[in-house]
Amino acid sequence: MNKSGSNRRLVLASRNAGKLADFSLLFMPLNIELVSVTEFTDVDVEETGATFIENALLKARHAAAVSGLPALADDSGLVVDYLGGEPGIFSARYAGEPGSDQGNNQKLLGKLSGVNSADRSAHFHCSLALLASAEDPAPLIAEGRWRGRIAEQLAGSSGFGYDPLFLPEGLSGSAAELSSAQKNSLSHRGQALHQLVPAMAGWVGFDFYRG
Ligand code: IMP
Repeated sequence: MNKSGSNRRLVLASRNAGKLADFSLLFMPLNIELVSVTEFTDVDVEETGATFIENALLKARHAAAVSGLPALADDSGLVVDYLGGEPGIFSARYAGEPGSDQGNNQKLLGKLSGVNSADRSAHFHCSLALLASAEDPAPLIAEGRWRGRIAEQLAGSSGFGYDPLFLPEGLSGSAAELSSAQKNSLSHRGQALHQLVPAMAGWVGFDFYRG
C-alpha cells in the first residue's frame, strides 16, 4: 500500500494538473492513485500518429516505459465536418506553434466565414488508452464524442480551447458558459472516462504490475 492508502498506481501521460485532478477523482472509488508522467521525465513523446487513438497509444506507451507503471493517456480535439475533420489531431496547434487558444479560435472563425449555420456541425472527440505495460498488446480503449456546432462569435469565459465557439447540441449557449461539473457530465472526455472506469474494475492490467 502507498502513501495515499491506495494499493494500485497508474501514471497519467499528461503534464496538465487540471486533468490529473479530474481523473484522480474518478479513479478514487477504484482505489487507484494517479501520478503524473512529470514525476518520471521532462521529455514528451512526439505525437506522430494520424488519429487521436494512435497518439493516445504513443503517449501511454511512453509513460509506461519511463515509469514502469500501467499508463493512461488521452488525446482529444475538435472535428469540423465542413473542414473535412480539421483541426482534428492538430487542434492544439491549429494556428501554429506555440499553440494559442485565441489564435486557434480566430483561425477557425476565418475558415468558416460566410458558412451558414446548417453547415457548421462539429464534434469534440476524446480517445483514452490504458496500457498495463509498455509492451501490453491489448490496451483498454474508450472513446467519447460531444456533438454541436461552431458559433459565429465567441461566448463565455470558462473552460479552455475551442469552448467559447462550441455550441453543444441541445443547449442554448456555448461550452464556455457551462460550469465545469456540467461540462464534465456531457463532454467527450467525460463520456470516454465513464466508459473506461467501470471497465477497469475487472481489468487484468493490475495483475501484471508487481511494483
Ligand atoms: P488535449 O489532447 O486534451 O490536450 O487537447 C488538444 C486540443 O484540443 C486542446 O488544446 C484544445 O484546443 C482542443 N480541445 C480538446 N478538448 C477540448 C475541450 O473540452 N474544449 C475545448 N477545446 C478542447
